[in-house]
Amino acid sequence: MTTRKIFLNESEKPTHWYNIVADMPNKPQPPLNPKTKQPVGPEDLAPIFPMGLIQQEVSADKYIEIPDQVQDIYDIWRPSPLYRARGLEKLLDAPVKIYYKYEGVSPSGSHKPNTAVAQAYYNKQEGVKKIITETGAGQWGTALAFACAQFDLKCEVYMVRISYDQKPYRKIMMNTFGADVYPSPSDRTQAGRNILKEDPESNGSLGIAISEAIEMAVQEEANRYSLGSVLNHVLLHQTVIGQEAEKQLEMAGDYPDIIIAPLGGGSNFAGISFPFIGKNITEGKKTRCIAVEPASCPKLTQGEFLYDFGDTAGYTPLLPMYTLGHNFRPAAIHAGGLRYHGASVLCSQLLKDNLIEAVAMQQLECFHAGIQFARSEGIIAAPEATHAVAQVIREAEQAKKEGTQKTILFNMCGHGFVDMKAYEDYFAGVLSDHTFTENDLKSALGEIRELQP
Ligand SMILES: *Cc1c(COP(=O)(O)O)cnc(C)c1O
Repeated sequence: MTTRKIFLNESEKPTHWYNIVADMPNKPQPPLNPKTKQPVGPEDLAPIFPMGLIQQEVSADKYIEIPDQVQDIYDIWRPSPLYRARGLEKLLDAPVKIYYKYEGVSPSGSHKPNTAVAQAYYNKQEGVKKIITETGAGQWGTALAFACAQFDLKCEVYMVRISYDQKPYRKIMMNTFGADVYPSPSDRTQAGRNILKEDPESNGSLGIAISEAIEMAVQEEANRYSLGSVLNHVLLHQTVIGQEAEKQLEMAGDYPDIIIAPLGGGSNFAGISFPFIGKNITEGKKTRCIAVEPASCPKLTQGEFLYDFGDTAGYTPLLPMYTLGHNFRPAAIHAGGLRYHGASVLCSQLLKDNLIEAVAMQQLECFHAGIQFARSEGIIAAPEATHAVAQVIREAEQAKKEGTQKTILFNMCGHGFVDMKAYEDYFAGVLSDHTFTENDLKSALGEIRELQP
């Protein structure tokens, strides 16, 4: 019999998160205070995040224990299944074994609850009453709304306008979990009002929504802000994905030559790849790890490694990362979760050190891949996740051309049940590829050169 699905025993669940900082040959550069250009200390971040998370943000410990209460909630959907993509393999007819970790089994339908639950836990521990956040495609807001419901916390979400209009059901999911949701830019904050004055029809962006959420969070002592990607502690929490996958692959008698995941801020890519990159560094393994970004927002392949703000209004510390500039406004592609101007500090440093690879992908190729995947594997992928499938198909074709045997692992990081409008648009032929121009880049990067220390 040929197995398609590999479950992990209860007793083999990861008990710790893996912190790649401990193994990195070049440690990430520190975030800077934009005024003094000095490294920010924990006390600078205390009005925004609970101390438990700030400690993880700066930790160099290789393993950090997952609290029992977090484990207990992970138990709703973890360990997630690892699938052998027999249907896709048959379709591609290439000398490849393809495995994917399916994170769509979580309550919100993506990998995001892996960190949302942990973040809600540490906030609750420190007496926080309300968590405020932004959401792009709606995946993060839904995950945090679910997590807040588990810990009896209030939740307020600023949702990028274009997604708010395109994905009304995401808003209703958040409402169902008990969160309040506002389209961003909104007139509730100074950051939002400034944008609306300039452009009343603004589609919004993640950078703008982050500014709004931070502005609201610092106004009251019992409120905190929460970020669903980019930061070190977020990537840390996601490493349960790769640790589980490693054990599941071991059960199948395999080890990956190539790991592929989409990259918006870097958390699901980090989650599946960091435990394996650790093995590359410490045990001399040679797994290629490939981050796939949208061609319309190509920070890794066309951006520059610079200090930049994480948001549009400039409320965050300066982060050393590959960026297109915090004022870069990505085209309104359907993979809303990938429309972010920068990449996490950890992923950026790893790319700079050639420990990971990056490719940019056009959306038509991605949707085409997503449809092949749906028909062969029975799972309708989130538009973000189709970027990984498209690269898997390219690698399979390459292996066929070279006549080499390859084992590929990729992250099917979310389902697309709430993104059917995107598939409808694809079938109707109204989606197009986007050509990124040098001019887009020059203007957005020009402003941030002045920010450098
Ligand atoms: C949020 C999201 C992404 C992008 O964020 P990362 O932090 O890069 O993982 C990708 N896929 C899905 C399904 C998402 O919800």
